[in-house]
Amino acid sequence: MSLRFNAISSITNDSAGAAVPNAKITGIFGSNVFTLKTAREYLADEAYKSLVTSIRGGKKIDRNVANQIANGIRAWAESKGVTHYTHWFQPLTGTTAEKHDSFFTLKSDGTAIEEFDGAALIQQEPDASSFPSGGLRATFEARGYTAWDPSSPAFIIEIGEGKTLCIPTIFVSYTGESLDYKAPLLKALEALNKSAVEVCNYFDKNVTKVTPTLGWEQEYFVIDEALVNARPDLVQCGRTVFGAAPAKGQQLEDHYFGSIPERVYAFMRDYEQEAYKLGIPLRTRHNEVAPAQFECAPIFEEVNIAVDHNTLLMDVMSRVARRHKLVVLLHEKPFAGINGSGKHNNWSMATDTGVNLLAPGKTPKTNLMFLTFFVNTIKAVHDYSDVLRAAIASAPNDHRLGANEAPPAIISVFVGQYLAKVLGDIESRVSTKFDEQDEAILKLDLHRSIPELMLDNTDRNRTSPFAFTGNKFEFRAVGSSANCAISMTVLNTIVANTLKKFKADVDALIEKGDKKEIAIMHVIQKYIVESKNVLFEGDGYSEEWHHEAERRGLPNLKTTPIALDAFLTDKAKKLFESAGVYSHTELEARHEIELEKYIKKVQIEARIMGDLAINHILPSAIKYQNELLANVNGLKAAGLPESAYKSQLAVLKEVSEHIQVIHDKVHAMVEARKVANNIDNTRTKAIAYESQVKATFFDEIRYHVDKLEHLVDDDAWTLPKYREMLFLR
Ligand code: ADP
Ligand code: MG
Repeated sequence: MSLRFNAISSITNDSAGAAVPNAKITGIFGSNVFTLKTAREYLADEAYKSLVTSIRGGKKIDRNVANQIANGIRAWAESKGVTHYTHWFQPLTGTTAEKHDSFFTLKSDGTAIEEFDGAALIQQEPDASSFPSGGLRATFEARGYTAWDPSSPAFIIEIGEGKTLCIPTIFVSYTGESLDYKAPLLKALEALNKSAVEVCNYFDKNVTKVTPTLGWEQEYFVIDEALVNARPDLVQCGRTVFGAAPAKGQQLEDHYFGSIPERVYAFMRDYEQEAYKLGIPLRTRHNEVAPAQFECAPIFEEVNIAVDHNTLLMDVMSRVARRHKLVVLLHEKPFAGINGSGKHNNWSMATDTGVNLLAPGKTPKTNLMFLTFFVNTIKAVHDYSDVLRAAIASAPNDHRLGANEAPPAIISVFVGQYLAKVLGDIESRVSTKFDEQDEAILKLDLHRSIPELMLDNTDRNRTSPFAFTGNKFEFRAVGSSANCAISMTVLNTIVANTLKKFKADVDALIEKGDKKEIAIMHVIQKYIVESKNVLFEGDGYSEEWHHEAERRGLPNLKTTPIALDAFLTDKAKKLFESAGVYSHTELEARHEIELEKYIKKVQIEARIMGDLAINHILPSAIKYQNELLANVNGLKAAGLPESAYKSQLAVLKEVSEHIQVIHDKVHAMVEARKVANNIDNTRTKAIAYESQVKATFFDEIRYHVDKLEHLVDDDAWTLPKYREMLFLR
């Protein structure tokens, strides 16, 4: 019996899933995290204070204190049964990395002891040579090291009975170039903090720190493990390269917000409990639009922590799923013809005085502050929409962006009717003539024009890639498998840069004699005029928008190799360098790495397509062909007229034709790959993989395979079908 039928029968046998005990969330929340509260318990005063100052920003921890902190962390970890530790980091492979060391060591006299000192806490040297570096290692040093990031707390990962202490770190080369996602992110957050505090001080001198916040919404598919194991494409690329559309897909929309299937529900409760122990504040869970698609979202946190929690959760979910004989698919488009998965990044900025800078306020003064940050964000997205697009570019996200259920590859901003009107009013009523200004501006009465009510009645435009949703912006074009650090690095850098420019523009007007509020309004008005092209309130999925966007000159870059160009423009280089986020070399290295990742992903998919076509599809089809042939010959031999086997002949002909095309196309695709592989320039090679391999062959081969799936005897078909993967659990 084929794996497919084994898988189907095993589902009915063990669909009960693992039992998950009920636990009160507050009882377990953060129990595996070295929180400040735990630190208070395990550290002496000096060490504790030093840790706190370092978390609150800045001050390095000296070696002596680091030793004390390391001892405290070890004592805590050992009390929980931990034997090993690891520096935990996020290399540019897109996953997380760990290399476990035990606390156990031998002293010179052979005595065995457990030890974890400050040096081991602060720095480690993993072998960097197998992580992507985009040529940085060739130019610079071969080595890299991980350095403790005290702003993200240490935690304990439990795998089965094993427990490992994880120290969040950044990963850099010996000459200081960043080799991971976290180092540039931390720099971008600092750049934002600096610019935002300066602008805040126009309104409130007490603000000394601005912290960007992130609440992600993670979409994912859950599929039975045995069915996945029978699909080599899911196992190897996380997406199905073949599969005919099932009779019922998502057209009845009966899955969205429906009752959660029991087996998946047990899995959710299980991974949620693991997440709570790790301090990940998950809040919501529900069914998504596509069958077998789900979503979870936490309460928002500081960006740095939120990014760690998201990467950690993706890992936890994948592991916990196995306990339930399920597989989580985080890929952006695991199944054709139904919705893909995204990871909405809800983003705002909070001051240390407790103000959400993107929440409309109650007084004219706070509303002016809101407007300032609101308009600066829009202006940033307008000026750097190409860089923002590059930040979400990846092989899997190409399947989603611009497909008709996901935000288009055109970056636009949705603000809702109400704020669109406010922006329009400011644009038309604040004239650029300086004399009659004051009165006109005061008449705008910002207080009344942005009622508090707005929070509840912001329109929900699901088709916008970047939407204002009442008290935050929601960057919806981010892919479900992405590390949010990339989009957050770019978003915070472009806003930081725009705010810096804003401050300079306002100061220039004040110098000329404008009153502060008037100067601010003038610059706001100017920015509204300059960036209104990026505002779009309509249906982002529609054909008209594509035309309209083209008319406006907004880029619509549908493929990753081209979208990534935006990282290498002079504008981008200047942007990242002046914000201290990426040097030119680092940026070039990132660009190279992303292109290489793209090439490899397309290459793997192309190979898997070839393998499946030759080893699964054609043999099944040929088997069926033989059956038909035997049938026709038998009928002929029995002396029946041609009309008796006319239909069989027709099917036989159809099957044979598809077999022929598939065979020829697979071979032609191999040749196209050979040509692409011989290209030296990475960008040209990526473009070749996109246009000569993917665009030329993928859909074409798939079309014929999916036709065969409809024709060939179900018994002979070895790959689990869409209706099975999406509906059996
Ligand atoms: P929805 O967008 O589905 O209506 P919510 O508005 O409640 O749901 O929030 C979605 C996500 O946005 C949640 O993760 C939430 O924590 C996050 N969020 C809410 N406020 C902020 C904020 N100020 N900064 C960042 N994220 C936020
Ligand atoms: Mg949302």
